Amino acid sequence: MKKPVKSRLDKKTESRFSWRKSPSLSRRAQEEFGPGKTDIILCPEGDAVYYYKSWHHDLERYRELSETKAVTFTLCPFHEMKKNRQWEGEVRLVGVPATELREILASAQHISDEARRRDPMHGILDIKTEKNMVSIYTSENQLSGRIAKRIGESHKHHLARRFHHGKESDVFLITLEWIA
Ligand SMILES: [Zn+2]
Repeated sequence: MKKPVKSRLDKKTESRFSWRKSPSLSRRAQEEFGPGKTDIILCPEGDAVYYYKSWHHDLERYRELSETKAVTFTLCPFHEMKKNRQWEGEVRLVGVPATELREILASAQHISDEARRRDPMHGILDIKTEKNMVSIYTSENQLSGRIAKRIGESHKHHLARRFHHGKESDVFLITLEWIA
């Protein structure tokens, strides 16, 4: 028999859930690295490079490499979120049988990889398992929506999808509950 699943967010979840999104570049970083102060920012944790006001995977589109440029090293927002254990989207799988889990997580990873190719700041930050729950944390809320939609559609008769929006933030929490 299945245990009943709590549908309401508990207090702990709500407090985690109301975390506010950080801007693409923190104010501190903007002051520090704003126009004229630095040209290129390299993330020490990955391949992300900041120039022309956004993050890229490489320097391919940077046209001024031959000139002397100011380069700074600082964590990109994706890795800063990861370090601070922040996220903007969570897909919470509840009661999904272990036999289905591998395929579901592979599918989530695939969607994350697609998103990350387009924008190095988008992707899965972490996957955590706690009892009968598996949480997939993403750096961007729309991505959690896409992951939940895709998983939900491929298990239409087994998963109940519920959407929660953070009260004072853009944070999404989508629960997918197995209802075999
Ligand atoms: Zn990074």
